[in-house]
Amino acid sequence: MSLNYKIRNMNKTAVFPGSFDPFTIGHESIVNRALSLFDTVIIAIGSNSQKPGYFPDNKRKEWIEKIFMHEPKVIVEVFDGLTVEFCKRKNAGFILRGLRTSADFEYERAIAQINKEISPQIESVFFLTLPEHTHITSTLVREVHMHGGDITKFVPEGMM
Ligand code: ADP
Repeated sequence: MSLNYKIRNMNKTAVFPGSFDPFTIGHESIVNRALSLFDTVIIAIGSNSQKPGYFPDNKRKEWIEKIFMHEPKVIVEVFDGLTVEFCKRKNAGFILRGLRTSADFEYERAIAQINKEISPQIESVFFLTLPEHTHITSTLVREVHMHGGDITKFVPEGMM
């Protein structure tokens, strides 16, 4: 069976991997826009036991599930190891990522090219962030939260 045949007939499932520590309105917008292209979007929270995040994995999962409670095309999972291996386990043909800046592009380009070399059947797909979300990063949102600031403007409504 040819590679092209396999790609054409794969279920259109995208894995959206990230730390999502925490999930922001920038992430939410990428997922909602991707739903017009894909049958299923799996939001995959990367877990690293050596480097636990600010918010616990299970909290992040719970919060994201709450946001997409009424959207059956969205699945939320915690994973560890290589993203492409996770994609294969889930029979997902696409990796979804968001691009905010040229720095994001350079970083994402290297990851996508490495992924393509190790798993040619998986395509990386990029969405440009909406201009109003370009400045929103989980790092800054965490920083605001850490110092007791209000983060409700940056995270989906009713998430926490
Ligand atoms: P990672 O640690 O893998 O970079 P993040 O949770 O920070 O995980 O981001 C996951 C994905 O979401 C990345 O592709 C990132 O570029 C994208 N992203 C992050 N913030 C935004 C935003 N404000 N708008 C659009 N995409 C974003």
